[in-house]
Amino acid sequence: MSRLLARWGHSVVLLTRPLTGHPALAESVPPSTRKLFALLGIAQEIDDAGFFPARGNLVRWGDAPLRRADFAPGSAGHHVIRDAFDGLLLDLAEEAGAEVRRDATVRRLAKVACGDEGEEQHPQRVEYEDGHGGIAVLEARFVLDCSGRAGVIANAELRVHDQSNATVALAGVWRADAGAPPAEPCTLVESYRDGWAWSMPVSDTSRYLTMMIDPRRTELLKGQGRRRLYLAELEKTREARHLVADARLESDISGHTASQYTASRFAGDGFLLVGDAGSFIDPLASAGVKKALASAWLAAVAVHTCIATPAMRDVALEFFDSRERATWLGHRRHTARYYREATAAHGHGFWSARAEAAGDVGAPTLPEAARTPALDPAAEVHIPVPTEPDIAALRQDPDVLRAFSELRAAPAICLLPAPGLRRPRLPAVRGRRIVLDEHLASAALPDGVRFLRDVDLPSLVEMAGSFDQVPDLYQAYLDRVATVSLPDFLGALSVLLGKGMLTNEPQGDRR
Ligand SMILES: Cc1cc2nc3c(=O)[nH]c(=O)nc-3n(C[C@H](O)[C@H](O)[C@H](O)COP(=O)(O)OP(=O)(O)OC[C@H]3O[C@@H](n4cnc5c(N)ncnc54)[C@H](O)[C@@H]3O)c2cc1C
Repeated sequence: MSRLLARWGHSVVLLTRPLTGHPALAESVPPSTRKLFALLGIAQEIDDAGFFPARGNLVRWGDAPLRRADFAPGSAGHHVIRDAFDGLLLDLAEEAGAEVRRDATVRRLAKVACGDEGEEQHPQRVEYEDGHGGIAVLEARFVLDCSGRAGVIANAELRVHDQSNATVALAGVWRADAGAPPAEPCTLVESYRDGWAWSMPVSDTSRYLTMMIDPRRTELLKGQGRRRLYLAELEKTREARHLVADARLESDISGHTASQYTASRFAGDGFLLVGDAGSFIDPLASAGVKKALASAWLAAVAVHTCIATPAMRDVALEFFDSRERATWLGHRRHTARYYREATAAHGHGFWSARAEAAGDVGAPTLPEAARTPALDPAAEVHIPVPTEPDIAALRQDPDVLRAFSELRAAPAICLLPAPGLRRPRLPAVRGRRIVLDEHLASAALPDGVRFLRDVDLPSLVEMAGSFDQVPDLYQAYLDRVATVSLPDFLGALSVLLGKGMLTNEPQGDRR
């Protein structure tokens, strides 16, 4: 974010506190994050950094047998040790022109009192410890709080905690004994009765193994030290303990809070809550880094819009706010299914409390979850944009499925805008700005939609009437608009037809 804003000509100061001495975690960054790295202009640098490749997940969830879910051939993510990853991102921000102050612990944000309206007279005032025992002050037009769980701005009054549960992660590093078989190159995620285990290799011989527990619900071995507690939890697992059977625990056990929270508001006059400063999702999804990067990219776009197009300031901040909210809710829905599966299998309060809380945000019902065979909590998560409808729901929507079957059966097409089609102008990202852009809406999708899985719907509606065969329409879309996969294209077309935005009236059917 600092890198982008600096590249776009803004004066950026990045304040970050010195390393705390707390052991760094290793985290898994899935392959789809590459798209974000590319948006941020750092894909090559990440590739060159030599992080251990992430090739897929071993999953033992609920009462399902152990299964392996490899990422698509040729695509790998990264297993990053956060110290190294964060250091690289700071270097890249600095290289782009951001001024990085690495010994600055921010204490508070105070708005400068002023009389007149106008953003130049409304700077934010950040107070921080300067590393030499002094307090320094920085004034800025925008403050982007990226302080993670510390939540310098959020914690004051905006943070909303999930009171239903508390999660603590106990992490240890294991090294394979000499002569042991080569490390399994996958992550492992495994639920057990009153917690879950998460492990990932960071080299051919070394792997992190983390036990996720709830001090209020997990039945813990108390009073005998963190190491014994950790090992006692490990003993409850079926797979994780075998994974490290030929390895030695070479680190102390570090503790990390991993409880979930969100914010009542993600942006306001002159500030934005970015990444974990705004919300924290269950690490089960392995999507926290991806979510933080997406948030950082959109925050940069929103701030750039506010400065370059002051008339769009309110729209831009509201767009950021609604996207962050939608992202958090989307993740809650994603994890709710896994909580319910684990509740069904283990029947413990650890899981039922989580299932109940996540269910509050409108998760699908059990029969629907049970219909989907593959359980992979750490599978790739699609990060929604505010104006994109729920893709998973659309895939099962009877109107969309019917439209898809009719499209496949039709010998020819003649696609015309449906009488109920509306074209409202709503916020969307174009390049580095948020603009008001044409969307499509109908009685069935009243909130308006611009893209569905990267398919540009207004462009598709515009050109649809000129073709009488779907393959020709698809080829023309590829030539004139953008590359999208055939399944995504057919899905978008089926939504347009099923949701009353297009009609298909082949010649013989016309009156
Ligand atoms: C146990 C556990 C396992 C996880 N596993 C994964 C995983 O496998 N994959 C994944 O994608 N995500 C994982 N996550 C989530 C991931 O860590 C976060 O979502 C991600 O780090 C968010 O990035 P961020 O930049 O918003 O916040 P952070 O990474 O927390 O960065 C915040 C920064 O702000 C600095 N800071 C804090 N306070 C101040 C202050 N007062 N002044 C100055 N600087 C300050 C901190 O030093 C830090 O550098 C895991 C989280 C936990 C707890």
